[in-house]
Amino acid sequence: MNRRFETPRAAYVHVPFCRHHCGYCNFTVIARRDDLVDRYLQALAIELASLARPREVESLYLGGGTPSHLSPAQLCELLGRLREWFVPAGSFEFTLEANPVDMLPDRLGVMREFGINRISLGIQSFLPDKLAALERDHRQPEILRALEHVRGHVGNVSIDLIFGVPGETEDCWRRDLETLIAVRPQHVSIYGLTIERGSRFFGRVRKNQLKRLDDETERAMYLTAIDTLASAGYEHYEVSNFALPGFRSRHNEAYWTGRTYEAFGPGASRFVAGRRETNHRSVVTYLRRVMAGESPVAESEQLEPEDAARERLVFALRRIEGIDKQEFLAETGFRVHDLGGPALERFVAWGLLEDTPQTLRLTRDGLVVSDALWPEFLRQ
Ligand code: SF4
Repeated sequence: MNRRFETPRAAYVHVPFCRHHCGYCNFTVIARRDDLVDRYLQALAIELASLARPREVESLYLGGGTPSHLSPAQLCELLGRLREWFVPAGSFEFTLEANPVDMLPDRLGVMREFGINRISLGIQSFLPDKLAALERDHRQPEILRALEHVRGHVGNVSIDLIFGVPGETEDCWRRDLETLIAVRPQHVSIYGLTIERGSRFFGRVRKNQLKRLDDETERAMYLTAIDTLASAGYEHYEVSNFALPGFRSRHNEAYWTGRTYEAFGPGASRFVAGRRETNHRSVVTYLRRVMAGESPVAESEQLEPEDAARERLVFALRRIEGIDKQEFLAETGFRVHDLGGPALERFVAWGLLEDTPQTLRLTRDGLVVSDALWPEFLRQ
């Protein structure tokens, strides 16, 4: 069956509030505007009502921003509303992204009461200098206390770490990985720091106040992470993601395997009935539109079957097991090699992709440069 037209079994909710706007961040966030949280909750309730009837979902993901920044009472309202509209199905995964400093028993008690069963902790590093460079407000004592509380209330925890931070050395990164393994979360996401246009760090790089790490050092850091995590028993299952057996992110797997998903909140993107829609990124505009009874959608595009297949190709290649070519043809109606064309052949010849009669997958060399490959597979 073509998955583009199935009823969504996954939903994302964007909570844009943060205590502080970190200099490298280019997400849809709003800092020091907690006065808007109540209006946001009202707007979200209106947007959710567009579902018309409760939906069964296998995963629900609250991302941000910092969902854990909401007060216990606000969390209660948000989670209660979500449980009205979404009915858990299968082995339901309910994730909330959190900042370590927010992981106190009162908030965690509310999360557990409403069925949150996975916390994604934005730790980024265990090292004080690196955390200071990233403008994060936690340090190792808060991290360890957060982990203890999360384990006591929810159990299942994922940790995000960043490498390639200005001033970071390979030795720093190794120490971060050693500490990570010592605290042994069920799931790990690692990202090279990207300094996007529009972030404050971008301006500082242009003024030579910040220096990016060179590609060779970043490449070495990424490979060190792969090897270190593999030897500690983590399965590398997607370019940036690692899990202990049985703890892959089911919600993200829905994205990477071409499933449809609902999304709510400012800047949130949904993929339903072959159409990609993205809500307005400005929190204020989102609130104004929804409260006035208008659609929050800022961009909407019905994907042509070929474009949908190309996106599917890229997402599937991000997974370490790669693409089953027969399955891909059956699902999308397109052959991997017809879509990939000469670029695909070139990448195979360069040793970046491994091509067998059944599968196509990234090699170790391909993993390191994967972001540079994807534009070649998407129609410009
Ligand atoms: S990096 Fe995280 S905590 Fe910092 S502003 Fe962005 S979403 Fe908020």
